[in-house]
Amino acid sequence: MKKIFAANWKLHKNPQETRQFFTEWKKQWNTSSQDEVVFFPPATNLEATAQALDGTSLRWGSQNCYSEVKGAFTGEISAQTVKDLGGQYVLIGHSERRSLFLEKDNLIAKKVALAQKLDLIPLLCIGETLGERESGRTLYILRSQLEEGLSQADSMKRLVIAYEPVWAIGTGKVANNDQVKEAHKEVNSLLQSLGFPGATPILYGGSVKAENAKELVSIPHVNGFLVGGASLEVPSFLQICRSNS
Ligand code: PEP
Repeated sequence: MKKIFAANWKLHKNPQETRQFFTEWKKQWNTSSQDEVVFFPPATNLEATAQALDGTSLRWGSQNCYSEVKGAFTGEISAQTVKDLGGQYVLIGHSERRSLFLEKDNLIAKKVALAQKLDLIPLLCIGETLGERESGRTLYILRSQLEEGLSQADSMKRLVIAYEPVWAIGTGKVANNDQVKEAHKEVNSLLQSLGFPGATPILYGGSVKAENAKELVSIPHVNGFLVGGASLEVPSFLQICRSNS
């Protein structure tokens, strides 16, 4: 089955480094792969990304967008501009946006709805903190983030979810197979109970590396990965993107 491998570059790489990465990537990536590869570079590199990936099957998007397409919103990113530049995706509700920039589910819900209205695919991130897991609240948190984050979403339009336990992001700690299996099964059934298709892709994110990708990708309802650190270098991300073959 087709998988989605997404690279979250966070605040790394400038336009020149972005172009260099894609020159190398295009030499090595098997263009006949059935899997989808999506890049989320910093907003300042979207134009360089659009140019480098033009005419390829590689997808890209922004790491965030605002809930309005234009206006007096200093420092924000317009989803309309992402669309106009040729992007297909927007990452929404990443845990760093939630914890460092205090984004709440009601704002996240508006962003998801706007992205879909513009025919961009929202990649909505959800996940529990370590405290929430240790107090047995993981499934409750997943349910409330999905219910609220998707409260204005269109179930007929494309949507991708990333399950990212906050305690596994950038820490080197990967959720174990049972934890990933349980969370993905639950997210799949929650999506269906909210009226979304059972085939909605659910990616796992949190310290995915070339060494653990093959095992994780074979867990039921794991439809690919959202990768931070290991997506910054061509060899490690290539190996992850080849984990389904
Ligand atoms: C992320 O940024 O979404 C992420 C999963 O990061 P890392 O792979 O570095 O844990």
